[in-house]
Amino acid sequence: MGSIIIIAPPAAGKGTQSKFISKKYHIPHISTGDLLRDEINKKTEIGLKISEIMKSGSLISDQIILEVLYHKIQKLDSYILDGFPRNITQAREYEDMLNKMNKRIDKVFYIDLPKEISKSRILSRISCINCGRVYNTAFEDTQPKEKNICDDCKSQLVKRDDDTEEIFDNRYQVYLDETKPLLDFYNKEHLLYKINGNLDKISIFNEICLVLEGEM
Ligand code: AMP
Repeated sequence: MGSIIIIAPPAAGKGTQSKFISKKYHIPHISTGDLLRDEINKKTEIGLKISEIMKSGSLISDQIILEVLYHKIQKLDSYILDGFPRNITQAREYEDMLNKMNKRIDKVFYIDLPKEISKSRILSRISCINCGRVYNTAFEDTQPKEKNICDDCKSQLVKRDDDTEEIFDNRYQVYLDETKPLLDFYNKEHLLYKINGNLDKISIFNEICLVLEGEM
């Protein structure tokens, strides 16, 4: 298969769709945000360096990201990248990395979502401290069955430190300035597929599957 990349504004469903793809096609889901949060929770040298930057919603240095990612992917051929690349430098470095390993990108999905919807989803988003499953208290079908408890592993649901109104504005601006230019980059390479992020999560997943199975 090769690697699958998902590009989207905050809370458009990158994590949810990555988990669906991972489960259906039996390939690992690699979220750079989760890898970084893990470094912070374990208080590693990297974790201590990046904690304040992550809280502000700005991007972590390309060098750190590429190092963390390289360790994760060197033995893998097919996987889904959720949250990487976030800028053109990362995209170029990633292609160099893949070329050296004789690997390739399979497809790049862009989940499009208007800013106001992205913001309202961020403000009502909570996730499981154990398995990372994401819930949204604003919608009937994305609420946990029991308040603040994960349906799957029964652990506690918490709000992410960077899911606040003030930090959202910075995150969204970073997305527009740094990440959105990737659409042009991958479009030129004929790898990009655009999906309407305002559909429900199952419809989005069905579209992704059609593309992955070569029917679109
Ligand atoms: P996410 O979980 O993808 O929303 O990422 C949360 C935060 O982690 C971002 O706001 C950045 O601070 C950091 N981060 C995640 N992925 C990257 C990346 N590829 N490059 C730089 N920073 C990243």
